[in-house]
Amino acid sequence: MSRKLTNVEKDKIYWGTLALMLPPEGIKKRYPTEEGSRARLSEVRWPDGPQCPRCSGADVKQIQKRDEFACRRCRKQFSLTSGTPLHGTRISLLWWLRGAERIIEDQYSSPIGWNMTVQTFAKFLGVSYRSGFKARHRLLNDMRDGGPGFFRSLVCTEKVNLPDHVIPNSTDHLKWLFQVQTERVNERFEAEKQNRASVE
Ligand SMILES: [Zn+2]
Repeated sequence: MSRKLTNVEKDKIYWGTLALMLPPEGIKKRYPTEEGSRARLSEVRWPDGPQCPRCSGADVKQIQKRDEFACRRCRKQFSLTSGTPLHGTRISLLWWLRGAERIIEDQYSSPIGWNMTVQTFAKFLGVSYRSGFKARHRLLNDMRDGGPGFFRSLVCTEKVNLPDHVIPNSTDHLKWLFQVQTERVNERFEAEKQNRASVE
């Protein structure tokens, strides 16, 4: 018989599942440029091509820069980021994606009360303490269980298939996640070792 999970364990399952949905090679390798990150945003936001945020029209022309558009029906001008949580932020999309990955991995792997500090996160993003604080809050609030999940949908590119014999939200589920994560960390470590060996 499987016992009931504590809230902390349920939380670990939630974040651990998101961690498994991250690109296995890491966000930095999957989306190494701002351009690549924007292409990802575009494919998630507009899977059928750019759409007007005002009238939902799809008859849209590109203006000037590549990710600015004008609606031919209602004349509204908009950009790839307008109307998203990225609007008006000074942090580039590239770093938002890296930040989202970092938060997910930290939420999953840190023991209770040992999450990375705002200082560490701000340093990682290369921004001030204040901006780091705001970015962390924005990411956590978006990606938490039941949150809107805008950033989650950008960085969680993979599907996770729980094996049939594992009961969802059980202690076995937790064990399974831990095992798969460990394998993944080892794989990455091996890949890096081989990479280094081939450079030397
Ligand atoms: Zn329109």
